[in-house]
Amino acid sequence: MTMARFDATAAANPGVRQLQPYQAGKPMDELQRELGLSHVVKLASNENPLGLSEKVRTALQGELSDLIRYPDANGFYLKSKLAELQGVDTHQITLGNGSNDVLEILARTFVNADNEVIFSQHAFVVYPLVTQAIGAKAVAVPASDYGHDLDAMAGAITDRTKMIFIANPNNPTGTFLSTESIKTFLDKVPSNVLVVLDEAYYEYVAEHERAPSIAWLKDYPNLVVSRTFSKAYGLAGLRAGYAVTSAEIADLLNRIRQPFNVNSLSLKAAEVVLDDHDYLQQAIKVNAAGMQQLIEFCQQDGFGYISSHGNFLTIEVGPKAADIYQKLLHEGVIVRPVAGYELPNHLRVSIGLADENQAFIDAMRRISY
Ligand SMILES: *Cc1c(COP(=O)(O)O)cnc(C)c1O
Repeated sequence: MTMARFDATAAANPGVRQLQPYQAGKPMDELQRELGLSHVVKLASNENPLGLSEKVRTALQGELSDLIRYPDANGFYLKSKLAELQGVDTHQITLGNGSNDVLEILARTFVNADNEVIFSQHAFVVYPLVTQAIGAKAVAVPASDYGHDLDAMAGAITDRTKMIFIANPNNPTGTFLSTESIKTFLDKVPSNVLVVLDEAYYEYVAEHERAPSIAWLKDYPNLVVSRTFSKAYGLAGLRAGYAVTSAEIADLLNRIRQPFNVNSLSLKAAEVVLDDHDYLQQAIKVNAAGMQQLIEFCQQDGFGYISSHGNFLTIEVGPKAADIYQKLLHEGVIVRPVAGYELPNHLRVSIGLADENQAFIDAMRRISY
């Protein structure tokens, strides 16, 4: 008998075969090596430009000798702190290796191959990814003016719908849904459908515009709120995020979660950074100033942009976006192409420090004229 070669692609689940690999921002050292550049500015992954909180740095050094031990599987201290901060019970919190992990745990807990999962066109790439990995049907609802069309999303609900993802603000568009519009939507969604409100950029939203999403959990047991330490808290490399839900949902999520999905350093860093109020305030301030700087550039140079509530601005640079992206790389500036999000004429620029934003602006002016 001759053994045929194992055909991995044919053997893989159909949903997985259809997935495109996640396109991460180009790493800085890779670009430096490839092009022999001495200085590179990375504005590609919505990272916090402030650098690590000094309080976190100190705390992490104290943590190193304990790395021979397994992490606290229940994340007791971090959950206690989060519960206090959010006014919920510790049993309502599920920790994740980044909030991406939580989104995947949610899908694996509740969605099966016969289900449909709804999200918006131009929404965060992880939603189709976790949906298709399970073999469920991904239903992308056309956006309205780049943002979620909540009426259309409510209209897309069928008997098979199990989960709806809403990113507020959304990445990569920065679009934002008002408190009233989300509340109206929640009232329309049948109680057997989960609504996952992904608030990765929550801290950047002006206080008076923030939805009282966690307070809504009392009235909507089918609601899930997810947050992250990757953006305003500046811990993207450590991978820490969480979901706040009913205690019943959290109990189920915690059954499927890998026991040590958040490592010791991440637990410690997240716990400490929650007390570093100055760091968060500084991050918000630098972001607001940088946003203004990029908007003024767009206005002066005649580029359209999508009004953003996040820590990035998605700029309409026209049909040569891919070319401009490449030219920016050669100028030592990494931004993010968003053609994969059906935005072929745009580039997403993360807000950096003033001099980093200026480096992008200067590079744009050198290459476009
Ligand atoms: C960055 C981001 C996240 C957070 O990802 P982590 O896994 O927590 O780093 C979640 N949702 C959206 C929309 C994001 O842009």
